[in-house]
Amino acid sequence: MRRSLVDVVGEEHVLTDSRTAGYSVDWTGRYRGLTPAVVRPRDTAQVAAVLALCATAAMPVVPQGGNTGLVGGGVPRSGELVLSLERLDRLGPVDRDATQVTAEAGVTLQRLADAHPDLDFGVAIASRHSATVGGAIATNAGGLRVLRYGPMRAQIRGIETVLSDGTVLSHLSGLVKDNTGYDYPSLLAGSEGTLAVVTKARLRLVPRPRDPVVALLGLPGLADLHSLAVRAVREIPGLVSAEFFTSTGLDVLLRHTDLTPPLSVPTDAYLLLEVSDAGAMEALAELAGDLPAAVASGAAERARLWAYRERHPEAAGFLAPPLKLDVSVPAARWVELATRIGDVVAAVDTGARVITFGHVADGNVHVNIAPGAEADGRHQDAVFGFVADLGGSISAEHGIGALKAAWLPLSRTAAERALFARIRAAFDPAGILNPSVLPR
Ligand SMILES: Cc1cc2nc3c(=O)[nH]c(=O)nc-3n(C[C@H](O)[C@H](O)[C@H](O)COP(=O)(O)OP(=O)(O)OC[C@H]3O[C@@H](n4cnc5c(N)ncnc54)[C@H](O)[C@@H]3O)c2cc1C
Repeated sequence: MRRSLVDVVGEEHVLTDSRTAGYSVDWTGRYRGLTPAVVRPRDTAQVAAVLALCATAAMPVVPQGGNTGLVGGGVPRSGELVLSLERLDRLGPVDRDATQVTAEAGVTLQRLADAHPDLDFGVAIASRHSATVGGAIATNAGGLRVLRYGPMRAQIRGIETVLSDGTVLSHLSGLVKDNTGYDYPSLLAGSEGTLAVVTKARLRLVPRPRDPVVALLGLPGLADLHSLAVRAVREIPGLVSAEFFTSTGLDVLLRHTDLTPPLSVPTDAYLLLEVSDAGAMEALAELAGDLPAAVASGAAERARLWAYRERHPEAAGFLAPPLKLDVSVPAARWVELATRIGDVVAAVDTGARVITFGHVADGNVHVNIAPGAEADGRHQDAVFGFVADLGGSISAEHGIGALKAAWLPLSRTAAERALFARIRAAFDPAGILNPSVLPR
């Protein structure tokens, strides 16, 4: 098998030595495994040839992009071969008429954002310097601007993908309107590497805001914060982001990083709003009223305010290898979720520290837990059970991966899971793609 793989991608791109280590552990350090080889193809034809070899040998495969996923879905937990898409990194010219670009799977989201001075990429996540097009499609990444531009699925205008038997499907026309049968690119968004390997995508770009403004507001609690965020979505034209964090996470960041307190008065809860143009300043000022606030219009100042929110994914990691549970609930239940989640975790682990932050306008809370007791599933049981009772989802954006596989029945019925299995068998007849992810 090794010889055949080397024939396809070259000796230096079949790694079997200590260089496989970095591909075998996830960003949090919580999920790790062993792999017989990391294979790094350079183009679609090589991906197809590698998959055909693996299908014949019944060798399970984990596709991997930037390895920033947070649910243990991109690492070889059961001895799978790692198929790294990092060398598929060609970015085509920007089509200004269509406001689209074609990118290979290994292109980072930051490169898409930098592709043209007047155009931006709609999906922004804190991991964008490493996260790739293929990984973002496979996880249907959400992030900081979903309320304005939608998640990764909404950016796809075409896709090229390889099935487990080596069949290449290419549908990269970029047509905005194209009702010619099943929209399988949409199915691949959120498929977590279980259906096919994405090799290329045609993606929409959005106008780059000319003079965006960022405001950070301090509030006495999460109920007030939610009401204000809901008003902002309703009343502020050009609202791009509505993000929150609390003093718990901020205090950890202030202790462990070079960040200094953002406002002159400390508060319990913080709402960060970004609007696409300075014309919305008046509406923003009216919304803020007398609240403690910092407002930024220059690029450096905007980045400074964003850092308080964007560095929150690191916070729990300063305390322990974190459990990262990202959940969503209907808008009417958000305050209940955000205010009670600490007690819900404390009921099963009194020593746990819980840091919450996230995308308040999407009903999404990232529940980051630095466990005090063994992470034996008790935290997931408590958090996911609570979220299910509130009518929510156990995965807002990171996916199911290996972390949440056992709890999928809380969000999906038996009939839905049976349909998932049939879809999976149709795409991956060899049954080799990411076997630990999403129960079969
Ligand atoms: C600091 C930080 C902040 C983050 N913030 C957010 C956020 O706000 N919103 C959000 O949604 N996520 C966020 N994430 C999670 C993560 O960055 C996203 O899930 C991202 O889309 C993963 O991309 P990747 O290239 O790193 O994929 P990987 O981690 O390499 O893989 C993720 C999954 O996709 C599959 N996969 C990868 N490439 C392919 C491919 N070409 N074809 C088929 N399957 C593939 C893998 O098998 C795996 O199941 C954050 C992560 C970090 C570390």
